[in-house]
Amino acid sequence: MTQRINPVILTIDDEENIRDSFRMFLEDYDYQIVEAENGQQGLDLFFQKKPDLVLCDLRMPEMDGLEVIEKIKQESPDTPIIVVSGTGIIGDAIEAIRCGAWNYLLKPIQDMSVLLHAINQAMERSRLVVENRAYQEHLEEEVTKRTRALQKAVKDLNQSHLKLKNSEQKYRVIFDNLQDVYLEMQLDGKVTEISPSISHISQYCREDILSTNIDKIFPNPNDRDRLFTQLKTQNKISDYELHLLDKDKTLIPCSLSASFQMGLNQTEDKICATLRDITERKLAEERIEYLAFYDALTELPNRRLLLDRLEQNISRARRYDHFGAMLFLDLDRFKNINDSLGHPVGDVLLQEVSKRLLHDLRSEDTVSRLGGDEFVMLLPDLGPDSTNAAAVAQQKAENIRGHLAEKYFIDGHELHITPSIGVAMFPSGKEGQETGDDILRYADTAMYRAKDDGRDTIRFFLPSMQAAADSRLATEKELRHALERGELTLYFQPQVDGQGQILGAETLARWQHPEKGFISPAVFIPIAEATGLILPIGEWVLRTACEHLKSWNDQGLPVHHLAVNVSPRQFRQPNFVRQVKSILEETGADPNQLGFELTEGMVIDNIPDTIEKMESLKKLGIELSIDDFGTGYSSLAYLKKMPLDILKIDQSFISDIETDTNDAAIVHTIIAMAAHLELKVIAEGVETKFELDFLEEKGCPLYQGYLFSRPVPNEQFIELLKNGQL
Ligand code: C2E
Ligand code: CA
Ligand code: CA
Repeated sequence: MTQRINPVILTIDDEENIRDSFRMFLEDYDYQIVEAENGQQGLDLFFQKKPDLVLCDLRMPEMDGLEVIEKIKQESPDTPIIVVSGTGIIGDAIEAIRCGAWNYLLKPIQDMSVLLHAINQAMERSRLVVENRAYQEHLEEEVTKRTRALQKAVKDLNQSHLKLKNSEQKYRVIFDNLQDVYLEMQLDGKVTEISPSISHISQYCREDILSTNIDKIFPNPNDRDRLFTQLKTQNKISDYELHLLDKDKTLIPCSLSASFQMGLNQTEDKICATLRDITERKLAEERIEYLAFYDALTELPNRRLLLDRLEQNISRARRYDHFGAMLFLDLDRFKNINDSLGHPVGDVLLQEVSKRLLHDLRSEDTVSRLGGDEFVMLLPDLGPDSTNAAAVAQQKAENIRGHLAEKYFIDGHELHITPSIGVAMFPSGKEGQETGDDILRYADTAMYRAKDDGRDTIRFFLPSMQAAADSRLATEKELRHALERGELTLYFQPQVDGQGQILGAETLARWQHPEKGFISPAVFIPIAEATGLILPIGEWVLRTACEHLKSWNDQGLPVHHLAVNVSPRQFRQPNFVRQVKSILEETGADPNQLGFELTEGMVIDNIPDTIEKMESLKKLGIELSIDDFGTGYSSLAYLKKMPLDILKIDQSFISDIETDTNDAAIVHTIIAMAAHLELKVIAEGVETKFELDFLEEKGCPLYQGYLFSRPVPNEQFIELLKNGQL
């Protein structure tokens, strides 16, 4: 409140003269005067006029001055009040000052200038108070305003702080609970941040990796180099596949997405990345890949993979001039088992069948399931001779048929099932350009023929092959009885030196069939080999040869060397050496006169075991030769390791000496090789004088062949021995 130009003074006094004197005096000094003659009136006027100053008596009727002062102070504490009162009431004056009066003047006022001074002083003070108050109020207002602004700012700050905290918390929760791994690193590979989820995908925890170099988990420098180069050029990469090396050194396939983040300066540049374990995805991909080529139930190759391999094998067979076979197998009345015992049992049966098929075949063969109860076997590389290849295929099919027909025990049921098998050979030579699909169709057709012919049987696609197979089957049946019936005998073919002197002989088996007549060993020995009949036959041949050897000796007709052919299957028997020993003991034959003809193929197979057996035989005194030398591997390396005595040059080279310079060179080489290895050498199939002369000239000292003698029966051989000379 500012002061008026003519300030208003309220005088409250019950003495009229005093009021008058004040008024008259003060009006001269431009004060406006309002008067009250008692306390109540004074209060009323105070509220009415709002005076700038109050002069107040203390002793008044109705309301005393102290009460008036108190009430005015309550209402308007800054209004200056000057108490004007009589002497002798000092106590009242003190009380009035305590109540808020500003000053105290004694009546009667002799010198009115004292009054004026007191009033002016009070007015000045009042002005200062008002000013001060205004200033204070302004200050307070400012402070309030500022405080409010500050409060708002604080509130805003708090709010954004809270927001920040919330979002940080949010990210922390995400960071802590990520399935993927969040990762930050410097350009030198130092890891500056990594989420705890690293422990989900590896056995590392966050602290293991933090502050180390990334090469700890990504040790493949190629992976890292590619990553950094790509990031430099593209700033960003996603789904980059690489391998994480776990604590236990296993590799975990991962996918990484990363971006390059430029810092304020180069040292602050960094790479932010997320890393995901993609093991399951990879497994799923592999599984999909697998299912594309394999049958889920049996895990065998499916039609797609089979046809793929078949195409490859057909072109290989064409290129290398050999034969392969395709066996199409369908289970007989499989549907009955499915219908009566349910599919789960049927499924287990199919799995069991697939196991037996795998067991029966070589590692290079393919067994596949086309679906349902149809299986296909691909047998590549069955040799260069189509008849032999067909015989092997037939034998394998027979083995499979026999094995599958054995009982199955599934889920408490004893099951029995037979297959119908169709066989197609490839290349068939018929069309030359047939595809895998064609061959599969041929085998399928043959399988239906097997079904038509009463099931549980094997049928070839080509009628000619079927005929051959039938005859093989018949031969096999009869061969089983040939030994018991004494239809086998031994012939002997002399082996001579340049002068035609008989030094030894080769034992050759003969089969005199009661109806079919003579059956060549070239026919029945492969069948015997394929069916396993070679074991009793081979044993019989050895025993009989030894008996002859003994008897010739007893007759004084010594033979330096009697060679016996030993077949692969016979030789591979674990107890072969023991068998030989006991036959020698039983017959009393001299092992030093005995020799074995082995084939190249069987000695290079499983060399350690072969060498051991050969050494045992040699210790007994038996001479060992390689039959048909030159047709197989003929490698010097293996020859050197073998405890051999003789190389036998195959007759196929001899017969062509005259016409084929290549063969002549081979024969020459074999003779030289034998000399180098200090082995004896013998040529078989010598039919002409020309051949003999050639061999003699090249240094081959021993011969066997029609030029000297055909294989002959015992009685005839004895006659030859008696002569001693051919
Ligand atoms: P191999 O061991 O190569 O026997 C030589 C074959 O050539 C014999 O046929 C023999 O009669 C024949 N031969 C001998 N000299 C001449 C000749 O100057 N010209 C021609 N063209 N051929 C000649 P064979 O007796 O028919 O025997 C055939 C094959 O049967 C034998 O070939 C041998 O691998 C096998 N074999 C015969 N007997 C047995 C045996 O007791 N055990 C075993 N495991 N295999 C046998
Ligand atoms: Ca032989
Ligand atoms: Ca031979």
